[in-house]
Amino acid sequence: MPSLKLNACCVAAAVFGLGANPSGAQTAPQPAPDHPAVTVEGRTYTPRSILARNMGKPEDQTTAFPPHKIIGNIYYVGTRTLSSFLVVTRQGNILIDSTYERNVPTIEKSVQQLGFKFSDTKILLGSHAHGDHQEGDALVKELTGAQVMAMAEDVPALQAIKPGGKPHPIDKVVHDGESVTLGDTTLVAHLTAGHTRGCTTWTTTV
Ligand SMILES: [Zn+2]
Repeated sequence: MPSLKLNACCVAAAVFGLGANPSGAQTAPQPAPDHPAVTVEGRTYTPRSILARNMGKPEDQTTAFPPHKIIGNIYYVGTRTLSSFLVVTRQGNILIDSTYERNVPTIEKSVQQLGFKFSDTKILLGSHAHGDHQEGDALVKELTGAQVMAMAEDVPALQAIKPGGKPHPIDKVVHDGESVTLGDTTLVAHLTAGHTRGCTTWTTTV
């Protein structure tokens, strides 16, 4: 049985990290150097050019990518460049990544196009505490009543994501190695810190 990893991490942290200052003196933050560069089939890529390619244009972040089955009970319900996954079980569904709050109606429509009910979303998980992945959590909870679970190390960063002043919902805190079960599906949370402190890779077996 294949094991599947769901991790929609981007490379922004590597691009926007602050330069270290061995002397300890206070200096203005410097943008991180844009290297290394790699050339593939005549085209040269740098960290910034890859980030720009991955993020796409603003409309790529908000336009639905045609929703489809990936494998087994796992479906793609995100936009062209911001992924969102639906895991379907007999006891309701798990959504991974709400993305931006303005994308939630788009995700809802994609879920419906696949023949599922958005209101059957029982658990909301996330990949990491950045707005392009988890800003919509409060709206998803409002629309579905889903239980929102978060990796402990990402809780402070999630609590700072408050679109329109709404507090970020966190119903259950999970830790590295813990599992989340709904119906006949179990997802395991793996702490893959770096991009954020609580960046999480979810694995399951299909
Ligand atoms: Zn990110």
